[in-house]
Amino acid sequence: MINLLDFDLAGLTRYFAEIGEKPFRAKQVLRWMHQMGANDFGQMTDLAKSLRENLMQQAVINAPQVRDELRSADGTVKWLIDTGAGNAVETVFIPEDDRGTLCISSQVGCALACTFCSTGRQGFNRNLSVSEIIGQLWVANKALGHAPKGERIISNVVMMGMGEPLTNFDNVVTALNIMLDDHAYGLSRRRVTVSTSGVVPAMDRLREACPVALAVSLHAPNDQLRDVLVPINQKYPLAELMTACQRYLTAAPRDFITFEYVLLDGVNDSLAQAKQLIALTRDVPCKFNLIPFNPFPDSGYARSKPEAIRRFREVLQEAAYVVTTRKTRGDDIDAACGQLAGKVQDKTKRAQRNAEVVE
Ligand code: SAH
Ligand code: SF4
Repeated sequence: MINLLDFDLAGLTRYFAEIGEKPFRAKQVLRWMHQMGANDFGQMTDLAKSLRENLMQQAVINAPQVRDELRSADGTVKWLIDTGAGNAVETVFIPEDDRGTLCISSQVGCALACTFCSTGRQGFNRNLSVSEIIGQLWVANKALGHAPKGERIISNVVMMGMGEPLTNFDNVVTALNIMLDDHAYGLSRRRVTVSTSGVVPAMDRLREACPVALAVSLHAPNDQLRDVLVPINQKYPLAELMTACQRYLTAAPRDFITFEYVLLDGVNDSLAQAKQLIALTRDVPCKFNLIPFNPFPDSGYARSKPEAIRRFREVLQEAAYVVTTRKTRGDDIDAACGQLAGKVQDKTKRAQRNAEVVE
């Protein structure tokens, strides 16, 4: 059976052409699925009965199954999404005064093994399909319902859940197309952010295929330290990453890159490192998002002291950078950045290798 949630407008148009239907049917069906939350062809009353019957026989609209939904006292909601074979990923909704942000996962686990990241520690199982990526928005949209005045509850999407979006490139781009499509969610490019640890060639491909806002996980001001914290740096070192950021900005919907920087006590939070960071990023229009480290069991790292966070931020601000410090939300449901653990059966056997090293 074909799952129509796997298609963006181009794909759905192709599919309807193959079954001898008019292209405009694709727009209608996209609206039913994503704007009305329909998953039953019987509901699609403006389609000819023969088409509805035809679709019932050869297609489905299958969103991923929600295994659990947790609501925090501060309004944050976390869904545990079943991805089969005992695995799960997580999706988080974060309400704020002026927006509602959905944080979406792109992979079951992650192969890039950043040392301070709970997803990275678990290893990699597989890429999510398009329907599993866009299905997280579909599920959240349905669960959150409509605001009283009809405005959007989910106004922003960030690809900052589990996984490295740019190593699941094709599926992520198709899902982004659906987020942006006026026949589906109609989100503005400026309100959809892909976060990457710095997969340089894929940053260039994203600029060509679907330029949305870009966040880059920096976390260290020099190659020596970044090689350890973010191992993909060994392949795409900082000098290359900085020029890739400049290239990206030629097509980006915003005129800056957001650099994410997780603050690890005694590791990357000194004043000298803040100054080095300024020198490194001088030629890239950017804003900084400082993330106090969110601990998880046996991480081996600690969150920087509030005083160190404050001083680090001030050094950047004195150099005229715009800096935000991420507030920790959803503490009571473990929904913070880097804590999204889901459930990953590690195909790379990394967890096992790590255990052997510890013994
Ligand atoms: N793979 C992508 C997106 C997912 S991670 C990336 O690395 O950018 C989203 C953000 O959370 C990244 O900046 C990541 O470095 C950060 N992060 C990971 N583990 C964290 C932790 N334990 N505490 C705080 N931030 C963390
Ligand atoms: Fe993967 Fe991002 Fe975690 Fe690194 S920080 S292991 S790239 S999810």
